[in-house]
Amino acid sequence: MTQMNPSSDLARALTRRLTVLGSTGSIGVSTLSVVEHARANYGAEALPIEALTAQSNVQVLAAQARKFRPQRAVIGRAELLPELKQLLAGTGIETDGGPAAIVAAADMEAELVMVAIVGAAALPPALAAVRRGAILALANKECVVAAGELFRRTLGASRATVIPVDSEHNAAFQCLEFDQHHAIEKVTLTASGGPFRDWSRERMEQVTPEQAVAHPNWSMGAKISVDSATLMNKGLEVIEAHVLFALPAEKLDVIVHPQSAVHSLVTYADGSMLAHLSAPDMRTPIAHALAWPQRMNGPANRLDLAALGRLTFEAPDRERFPCLALAEACLRAGGVSPTILNAANEVAVSAFLDRRIAFYDIARVVQATLDADGSNIAHAEDLETVLAVDARARATAMGLCRKLAA
Ligand code: NAD
Ligand code: MG
Repeated sequence: MTQMNPSSDLARALTRRLTVLGSTGSIGVSTLSVVEHARANYGAEALPIEALTAQSNVQVLAAQARKFRPQRAVIGRAELLPELKQLLAGTGIETDGGPAAIVAAADMEAELVMVAIVGAAALPPALAAVRRGAILALANKECVVAAGELFRRTLGASRATVIPVDSEHNAAFQCLEFDQHHAIEKVTLTASGGPFRDWSRERMEQVTPEQAVAHPNWSMGAKISVDSATLMNKGLEVIEAHVLFALPAEKLDVIVHPQSAVHSLVTYADGSMLAHLSAPDMRTPIAHALAWPQRMNGPANRLDLAALGRLTFEAPDRERFPCLALAEACLRAGGVSPTILNAANEVAVSAFLDRRIAFYDIARVVQATLDADGSNIAHAEDLETVLAVDARARATAMGLCRKLAA
């Protein structure tokens, strides 16, 4: 590829060091492909890697480390550290293992941290990166849902910047005029509707994990693919938007848009509606976040509107997709209910993927876990309380899954 001559501002942005938390997942792999593309276009020294972390895929992590030469590679499951050490012997790359080592990796000096871990497990490392004032390219949504207040307060007390990578939030971020916050009437997140958009409830009662992870427009990790099929993903995203953009529930809306070309819309007081469009490819929001506030060449296909022909929109069906309504109710209820919602959903999705419960049981388990919470904890503003509420909800949800599986 021919070397581009970037503006000096972009050249400077691309000297920032990058840590990728969750480098072996769908977003992690896409992030490294954007880095490779940047190096092909702007020079081999673009976006040097500080640390790579993964949970259990030690082979892929070691191969990535050999290729991208980070200072450190970290495996979450500490029992796999000897294997990682062996695979990286002689490279000079530091190795470490265990959840605390992932937090320590987030705490290293990289100016940019891609948070691509799945689930609320991303919370401790994400908070560490926020506290030391990094720029977070934030793909993970569960940490924001589980700990909204804590996340917002920690961010407010730091020099950190969050650039959302979740496609809808990245799209809204690009359309939002932050100094006109008072004039924002509404942010509308689009949803593809998932693989079961036009299925009857009866038919959906029977769906298998294979059917649920086969998303029509996006290729993603298993957990978010199931969330997209239940529309819990969109519910989590409404809560994520509430936290990231400081907007009340009344100003957040969801619309089903099966072509996944428009990712979000922002409506202003004067009646203007700004939309963000791109091909459904996560490498576009990733490239935006890694170059921000500059723009770099991205590897994704460009959207061909003439080939697409038409864009359609329809209201979501909250009866066939009760998870969306559950999440919206948790946003309105506030307090610890989003923490419980997220924890119960993580447990239920995992049980569904293991074929222990049925598709609609996901919503049943989440609803029953919310109903069962007899705690007197109304707010969770510190990490220990968030983790305690999360752990109790997980235990309740696991018990419910066991009963349903029996
Ligand atoms: P994935 O399952 O493909 O990858 C998850 C990564 O996190 C892997 O590298 C894995 O090793 C690591 N990981 C898993 N459990 C961990 C733990 N307990 N501690 C530390 N690391 C752990 O997931 P994904 O699809 O890449 O999604 C990652 C995050 O980005 C999710 O929060 C998801 O909602 C969000 N997101 C993903 C997409 C997408 O297109 N995949 C789009 C928008 C948002
Ligand atoms: Mg999304």
